[in-house]
Amino acid sequence: MIKTIGVLAVQGGFIEHIAMLNKLGAHCIEIRNKTDLVTNKFDGLVFPGGESTVIGKLLKELDLFDKLHEMILEGLPVFGTCAGMILLAKKIINDSHIYFGDMNIQVRRNAYGKQSGSFLTHGDFKGIGQIPMTFIRAPYIENILDSVEVLAVVDQHIVAARQNNMIVTSFHPELTYDLRVHEYFLIMIDQHIIKLKNYTT
Ligand code: GLN
Repeated sequence: MIKTIGVLAVQGGFIEHIAMLNKLGAHCIEIRNKTDLVTNKFDGLVFPGGESTVIGKLLKELDLFDKLHEMILEGLPVFGTCAGMILLAKKIINDSHIYFGDMNIQVRRNAYGKQSGSFLTHGDFKGIGQIPMTFIRAPYIENILDSVEVLAVVDQHIVAARQNNMIVTSFHPELTYDLRVHEYFLIMIDQHIIKLKNYTT
């Protein structure tokens, strides 16, 4: 079955996510307005990197926020990278905003310093192994609360985590040639589809 992924496309690096997911055989729909959300059926959502304040503001202005929030709460698999992680976090330690606030993580924005904080490293990702990790003015997770599984730690900071249907990375797997994190997300979607089938049969 070909999976349909809704990629939030109001600002930031959505094109690179679409390219990765297409390589893995998924069909992507760019979510730019309410019509995109209500006329399509999605198997998963991607919130890309960008500027969380801008994306957060556009989510409200374009009237996307409530519907997306409902989809997350219903258990639709969602993958947030960098700014996308900030959108899902319960608390931003150095910022007063809260966006969806559904994931039990406390994050620090621009945690590596504002401009000079962009770098490439390699780290271990639970269940995958060593992967390249590109950080661009990235947040990291300073605290986790209930039901959050840590998936990657770099220099003693949590840079990837999962809670049920939500997976987040501080770094940008879509900016490397390594498809495995996106593959991991597609497997999460498979598991979700199986769960839904078991409920309905
Ligand atoms: N610094 C951005 C923010 O706080 C995130 C950067 C990114 O997504 N690459 O929103």
